Amino acid sequence: MLPVVALVGRPNVGKSTLFNVLTRSRDALVHDLPGVTRDRHYGVCRLGATPFVVVDTGGFIENAEGLDSQTARQAQFAIDEADVVLFTVDARDGVLPTDRAILDRLRRSGKPMLLVVNKVDGLDENAVLAEFSALGIADTFLTSAAHSRGVTPLLATVQSLL
Ligand code: GDP
Ligand code: MG
Repeated sequence: MLPVVALVGRPNVGKSTLFNVLTRSRDALVHDLPGVTRDRHYGVCRLGATPFVVVDTGGFIENAEGLDSQTARQAQFAIDEADVVLFTVDARDGVLPTDRAILDRLRRSGKPMLLVVNKVDGLDENAVLAEFSALGIADTFLTSAAHSRGVTPLLATVQSLL
């Protein structure tokens, strides 16, 4: 069995785009509309020494009662089966309440977690780091999945955890 790495975060932060970079496939649906990837998608990343399965999820959506139960169930399955979770956020949006709700859930899971701050293209990286340091996650990576940037150091750390 290959180790499993799950992409978890709000809709539209770039999870499917990152999935495509990692798996070099167009299997994952990438779309501007939030919530397009309703189920989990699987691919294999062979870019490093240890191949691993990448799981793309639809993303947590928050509603009046908290996290939407349908999408949360899918993402929770992905967290449960993961060896490492890539908690993915959007640099342009900053830290949103839904990000904090997802992070609470991830911390409860006890899984090794890396923070991926995506869409840093065109932004001041120091300002982005300052904003997301509020989440208190030691391992933070700035990426631009749409431009395949920042993926190599992220991949190296993922590999070290497998
Ligand atoms: P998901 O819902 O988290 O899977 O997000 P998607 O991968 O579907 O991406 C949502 C939107 O963000 C799409 O329009 C992507 O092209 C765009 N996007 C993804 N990554 C980046 C990035 O690194 N920079 C920018 N500027 N846009 C991105
Ligand atoms: Mg998606």
